[in-house]
Amino acid sequence: MASRTIVCPSCGETEELSGAPSPEGIVITCGRCHASWLRDSVPDTCATCGGTDVQERTRALTQYSRGTQLSIVGLGSILLCRQCDARMFAWSESGRPVPFAYKSAAMDSTAHEAGRTGDDVHIDP
Ligand SMILES: [Zn+2]
Ligand SMILES: [Zn+2]
Repeated sequence: MASRTIVCPSCGETEELSGAPSPEGIVITCGRCHASWLRDSVPDTCATCGGTDVQERTRALTQYSRGTQLSIVGLGSILLCRQCDARMFAWSESGRPVPFAYKSAAMDSTAHEAGRTGDDVHIDP
């Protein structure tokens, strides 16, 4: 599964990287050269189109309780591309969390080919 690639700005390492939260954001540390940097200072790129117009959005971890009521049991984050995830991007733009079942094209280049985005995810207007 493809996801966004984080590259060490010092040595180009892409695998031996670890992230840790800090007050300024996620700090990535390179296991090879021990450089560390703020993840958010490196632009994210879309796994599908390669564009940089992607944003991190809130994703709901939900479950149905009492049959029909959907309750949010937790929140995570997901990357959305303004182009490839246009529909969900607009949805989240209005402050609503992205449904957990949604596969982001910005994070997974196979999401669209497999038809797992968009219309198969039920969202209420
Ligand atoms: Zn490095
Ligand atoms: Zn894209």
